[in-house]
Amino acid sequence: MKITENELDFSHVNDKISHLTKAEIVELINKYYAGEKVTRLIKDYKVKVPTSRLIFTFPKKLTDTHCFYCRTKMVQDWTSLHGYNQGESISYCPKCGHQDAPNCQCENCKRIKEESLKQELQRRKELIFKQVEY
Ligand SMILES: [Zn+2]
Ligand SMILES: [Zn+2]
Repeated sequence: MKITENELDFSHVNDKISHLTKAEIVELINKYYAGEKVTRLIKDYKVKVPTSRLIFTFPKKLTDTHCFYCRTKMVQDWTSLHGYNQGESISYCPKCGHQDAPNCQCENCKRIKEESLKQELQRRKELIFKQVEY
């Protein structure tokens, strides 16, 4: 896996790595995933965080998915090479917070769920009404 600049969301760069250029950040991430020692990377790139926090300073990974609501490109968190939060992480929208998950709790999803619930209640009311009429 080789990460390129286009795959990163540079609109939000963590303070801890804001002294690095884009190219250096890309290099840092690639070195991390190539398995270089985190202690060494932190020293070389002067990132003042505990080793376990390094991946949280990386700019988010851009995905090919666009947010259903605001059409912003969705991003993903980096997953640790070591430790428990491995595997594919959920895509989410950096703008409205929508997650690519069925149990998303963002404002838009909540509103849609409430509306469909209301419609369902309305439909049932109408049904009952019709039954009464007959
Ligand atoms: Zn969105
Ligand atoms: Zn949502």
